[in-house]
Amino acid sequence: MANIIDGKALALKMQSALAEKVKQMKSRYDLVPGLVVILVGDNSASQIYVRNKEQAALKAGFRSETVRLSEGVSEEELIEIINLYNADPAFHGILVQLPLPQHINDKKIILAIDPHKDVDGFHPMNTGHLWSGRPGMVPCTPAGIMELLHEYEVELEGKHAVIVGRSNIVGKPMAQLLLDKNATVTLTHSRTRQLPDIARQADILIVAIGSGHFVTKDFIKEGAVVIDVGMNRSENGKLIGDVQFEQAAEAASLITPVPGGVGPMTITMLLEQTYQAALRSVMSYDY
Ligand code: NDP
Repeated sequence: MANIIDGKALALKMQSALAEKVKQMKSRYDLVPGLVVILVGDNSASQIYVRNKEQAALKAGFRSETVRLSEGVSEEELIEIINLYNADPAFHGILVQLPLPQHINDKKIILAIDPHKDVDGFHPMNTGHLWSGRPGMVPCTPAGIMELLHEYEVELEGKHAVIVGRSNIVGKPMAQLLLDKNATVTLTHSRTRQLPDIARQADILIVAIGSGHFVTKDFIKEGAVVIDVGMNRSENGKLIGDVQFEQAAEAASLITPVPGGVGPMTITMLLEQTYQAALRSVMSYDY
């Protein structure tokens, strides 16, 4: 039976350490890290994410602002607002909550964010840094998974990591972060053939597809480490992962639950990267 990877506990530990670092930053540099989250429209899931981010930022002692815009806001208006925060030295992190309404081109919006304030790590400059092995802002969910693997002393060097899902937000940056730690990485997707056979070769299996309970025991090698990124609603409204937890836990050595696994780490990394951006602003160093 697998041991559980407790993402909530690590997130709390890191957030309280961060609150301490923020206090020191205040007294040493008279500086408070500032995070602005911009939300367009009234998507209920996005509202919850944004509220959680705001609360966690305030609790850690950050300056936290949420800009709520109506669904009908134009692309130009949104870019104007982003530019105000790009120019405002009190804010070190800017996050535009996705998805955006159809009439707004999210690629243009991501490009409008100053890459040094792009705490989500989605700007092509940060993506380029990541893929060329240079420091920069990293998408928060894969960054959080790396922290979990580190905390639970999961050996990566020479291990086979299989990632299911190739999104820009999770799967692709995850692959690069694992490569950087000398894992052998297989990135799979919806057109991959014989997916269970490939997944069963994984020492570390990371699943981010958005399909409730898709991964069954047939996908898991005895002793594998299983990371479930999925957040789906079951028919009765319960939050469930992409992995059949009970089945997977029988074979795995370590496994993340949903909720309480990867989710809490995403917000933690958002705060950590905002703190780092604030520190860079005062230390006058680039990445
Ligand atoms: P996307 O929809 O952007 O990407 C899903 C990926 O999964 C695609 O690459 C797709 O393949 C692949 N995929 C879909 N179905 C299958 C299948 N049957 N077999 C193999 N591959 C498949 O999703 P995200 O990456 O944004 O999110 C994935 C999940 O993670 C969601 O449940 C989301 O809610 C959750 N999530 C959780 C976060 C957290 O903090 N815990 C943060 C971000 C996401 P293809 O490219 O071929 O279409």
